[in-house]
Amino acid sequence: MDYAECKAYFDSPEFEEEYHYDGKLGSFCQPDGTQFFLWAPTAQRVQLNLFRSGDGGEAYEILSLTRGERGIWQLRTPENLHGVYYTYTVTADGIVRETGDPYARACGLNGRRSMVIDLAATDPEDWANDRAPSLPPENIIYEVHVKDFSWDPASGVSPEYRGKFPGLHQAGTTLFGDGIHPTTLDYLKALGITHLELMPVYDYGSVDEAGPDSQFNWGYDPVNYNVPEGSYSTDPFHGEVRIRELKQAIAALHKCGIRVIMDVVYNHTYHLDSCLNRTVPWYYYRQNPDGTPSNGSGCGNDTASERSMCSKYILDSVLYWAEEYHIDGFRFDLMGLLPVALMNRIREALDARFGPGEKILFGEPWRAADTAVRPGTILADKANLSALSDGVGAFCDATRDAVKGSLLHPGARGFVNGGSFSCLTLESCIRGWSGTPGEFSARSPRQTIGYVSSHDDWTLWDRLVNTLDDTRDYTGCSPEILRANRLAAAVLFGCQGSWFLLAGEEFGRTKGGIKNSYTSSPEINRLDWQRAWRNHSLSEYYRGLFALRRQLPALRAKCADAGVRILSVFEPQPGCAAVMLDNTGGESPWRTLLLLYNTRPEQRTIMLPSGSWQKLADDESSFCWQESIPVVHQATLMPISAMILGK
Ligand code: CA
Repeated sequence: MDYAECKAYFDSPEFEEEYHYDGKLGSFCQPDGTQFFLWAPTAQRVQLNLFRSGDGGEAYEILSLTRGERGIWQLRTPENLHGVYYTYTVTADGIVRETGDPYARACGLNGRRSMVIDLAATDPEDWANDRAPSLPPENIIYEVHVKDFSWDPASGVSPEYRGKFPGLHQAGTTLFGDGIHPTTLDYLKALGITHLELMPVYDYGSVDEAGPDSQFNWGYDPVNYNVPEGSYSTDPFHGEVRIRELKQAIAALHKCGIRVIMDVVYNHTYHLDSCLNRTVPWYYYRQNPDGTPSNGSGCGNDTASERSMCSKYILDSVLYWAEEYHIDGFRFDLMGLLPVALMNRIREALDARFGPGEKILFGEPWRAADTAVRPGTILADKANLSALSDGVGAFCDATRDAVKGSLLHPGARGFVNGGSFSCLTLESCIRGWSGTPGEFSARSPRQTIGYVSSHDDWTLWDRLVNTLDDTRDYTGCSPEILRANRLAAAVLFGCQGSWFLLAGEEFGRTKGGIKNSYTSSPEINRLDWQRAWRNHSLSEYYRGLFALRRQLPALRAKCADAGVRILSVFEPQPGCAAVMLDNTGGESPWRTLLLLYNTRPEQRTIMLPSGSWQKLADDESSFCWQESIPVVHQATLMPISAMILGK
């Protein structure tokens, strides 16, 4: 078959009817034997190669698999092969290729060989009793890269754990071990986030697991979708270690009241020469009419997630991480390359297995470029939010750009950094763009992931420096930038939806103005724990807003009609906004909220609606709500600042 025939064949209902397979795939060992199942309908021959180690050495045994129904190749050995490494040799279209198992759940160094694993042997102590903390009243999602979190020697983390899974949860770490200033996990516990989102922790290809620890990559280049990354483990040579160490980290985070979200990248693979393509050439990838691989991801190989076995592969993978690793949510990279039908199916399957809403699910509702998807497929992008379940969230670039300026223009400004201000746009931000006509129109705030920083693009701090400081002093802590940063946080605080932030946004994290640090050094990317304490007043401001928001039904509301809580939005003075919200229906002491924002560099005095208002937060403190500070008749807003009132 030429490529055009091949593509038509894989897309045809006949192919799906004949070869779609719903059973289990991969390798499974029991005391009395080990079974292997590989889906390879286009193969003429499949052999199993067994190895004593995860890298190096020859196969000690080679066995042939038998072809069964629906393109399944299988084999059963009489021995328990736990700990044995393996590859397949697949002959398809007369070409012989050696490959890892696409369904591998463990692997050797750099993911080249798969490993038979008895997963129970990887469970940390008391894993069976590991439970996520109960669902929080609000989602505060904190995005971090495993290496960034503990790379900095100032973190006080033991040198052998820095940048690795155990560095996520070492207890009692303090700044240079001073015993006074908590860092890493203890710092996070105090901050009050509810979800830690781990940037890719599946096995990726861009870092040599046998190489120096100073290598760095974000990891958006999957090799083994169902295995943790080896460079984050203390021993990448033995397949069970990375599994146990990731489980230990998750259990420790759960014990600290933090849920764990995994960043998943099913839209493309490290390269086209993947285990998927070596097993069933071209089935898992979209092709352009000329036969070249589709490139809607910018990475040169879009997966064909609309084809039933690719779709099953993704669903199986998500369920596996949720089940085996107790992962509490998933962030889908370039979700706009995946079908709406698949995302909704994942939502339903997670709800059915773990309980409605127990697992959070969201993604980037866009793609880098057009993709050669099977015609008729509806993709999970911004234009199709209404077709997605409202339990599938989407990053809200509309709020992001309104607050700090469009990312498409390096010098663009938003509300907090001297850009134009519009009450109408602010109102849309407040309602999480739910039901708002326009490019981003969510079904409900449940669907909206509000944010002003993520790993992509400049940190919030660097963006503010770029637009407010001609000297580009990224490492400084100027009062002007701090004011803009606090105002940005206060605007996000006031927006319905979930609240997402890049780790360190709350202490003015800088990457020295580097926009895309995916392959920059760990020194550029690492969380600077000295800076975290130098800017402690800023992180305290976030901490207070997080704690206050949990108490406010007006802002937490996720239902489709949450917008009716917005009683009025007006512009008392140019560049200022007042937003009144109905805060009833919870146990909050305040029935009405008044959010006041001043986007201008001058002080403003605003006449207040009648009533006895209490100050909950102002430009300096977000803990005013712990005291009783009355504000009557009028409020004076400092330049570039917010004030939150309640009554
Ligand atoms: Ca790897």
